[in-house]
Amino acid sequence: MPFYSKSFAHQSVLLPAIALSTLLLLGGCNSAADASAQKNTETGSPKNVILFIGDGMGVSTVTAARIFDGQSKGKSGEEHSLAFEAFDNLALIKTYNTNAQVPDSAGTATAILSGYKTNIGAVNVKPNVDETVMVKEACTDKASPPTLTKVAKAKGKAVGVISTARLTHATPAAMYSHSVSRSWETDKDIKDAMAVAGCTSIAQQLVESDVDLALGGGRKEFTDAHIQSWTDQGHIYVADFADLSDSPADQRILGLFNSSHMSFEADRAETNEPSLADMTTLAINRLSQDEDGYVLMVEAGRVDHAHHGTNAYRAMRDMQALNEAVQAALAQAGDDTLIMVTADHSHVFTMSGYPMRGNPIMGLVKRPDSEDYELAKDGKPYTTLGYHNGSNQRTADSVPLTDNMVQDPDYRQETAIPLGSETHAGEDVPLYATGPGSEKVRGTMEQDEIGRLIREVLALN
Ligand SMILES: [Zn+2]
Repeated sequence: MPFYSKSFAHQSVLLPAIALSTLLLLGGCNSAADASAQKNTETGSPKNVILFIGDGMGVSTVTAARIFDGQSKGKSGEEHSLAFEAFDNLALIKTYNTNAQVPDSAGTATAILSGYKTNIGAVNVKPNVDETVMVKEACTDKASPPTLTKVAKAKGKAVGVISTARLTHATPAAMYSHSVSRSWETDKDIKDAMAVAGCTSIAQQLVESDVDLALGGGRKEFTDAHIQSWTDQGHIYVADFADLSDSPADQRILGLFNSSHMSFEADRAETNEPSLADMTTLAINRLSQDEDGYVLMVEAGRVDHAHHGTNAYRAMRDMQALNEAVQAALAQAGDDTLIMVTADHSHVFTMSGYPMRGNPIMGLVKRPDSEDYELAKDGKPYTTLGYHNGSNQRTADSVPLTDNMVQDPDYRQETAIPLGSETHAGEDVPLYATGPGSEKVRGTMEQDEIGRLIREVLALN
């Protein structure tokens, strides 16, 4: 069936930006919890699936974000809950790639969205030790198993992809493209031999795809010819929040709100970019007009980037943005919607020492009933949050930390192993689920079971 039912073809379903933020303010934690409790009573087959991916959202990130969000609301923090923590169904997910113990987002997104594991760095291509075999399968024979977009569209469903990263980045790319390398984002990344073999860039595959709604960053990866080919098909292209809000609701839309990744939530106020919740609200309003239902993937892509820079503050703020997007979905989506929240992989992010209850989560460790900061063996205070590796290693010459230093939004937490960039971690990540079909989410699961679960509950082939 077409993207939108005819009855809604000329009716704007967009709320003004002010109304959106008011809705979000009203949609506090209690109402989100109530909504999820109601939906948890449903079993069976959903009409729609909304999948949230917090890129790099390991369990320690969820715990720290819960406390951060609670403390930002004047609570002690530890007892607070994020909206998706009220979901009934929960599993632990094994994230390894076929050739990597600690995975990357390309292989993990392929597992989550397409239902099979592959090599680190590969997007929707079956794994092989010989890359020429992968090139032949993906580019020449185009024989890779179909993307989630393809199978959902074949069933008549509308498809949306949202990311605060570049839309050509590994996770969103796995919704609609096949690429032997995640780095083939734009045309100039395709070397001659690969072009001869029939490989095309991820950007080109997006504008040639059947995706109905794609909102995120990455304008620089799209050539003018890419944008032209999109609008020549009669689709809408927008570059800021105002134009997005004013755009017709009955046409396919591509929104690219930043040259590269969208801004961190902590820095977004100075931009014309929509929030993750704004984009989620708009997407559900539009996609839900399709009488056959929809599949929507929403990625909080920059939690991962903040962690790579050992900047816990920006990771926490982007986690709050993800939580608000989940609240928006809970408030809008009907009882016929399976909502899942997961991570592609974890990070070497840790919460440690013995800080007292209610100690500021971004702060220095003070033990229960102590007035003084706890000192490490080097005689200097230390933070609750830290990273196993990364670029800000603590050394004998490090200046003793003060509260002002560590509460600064630009502060980078300390690391043990010196690396240019902090790395992913290999332990399991959580999957939270509510709505029809969510009862299948339980125990310890392989990550590729998620992709197969989506196909099974929606009866996609
Ligand atoms: Zn990463």
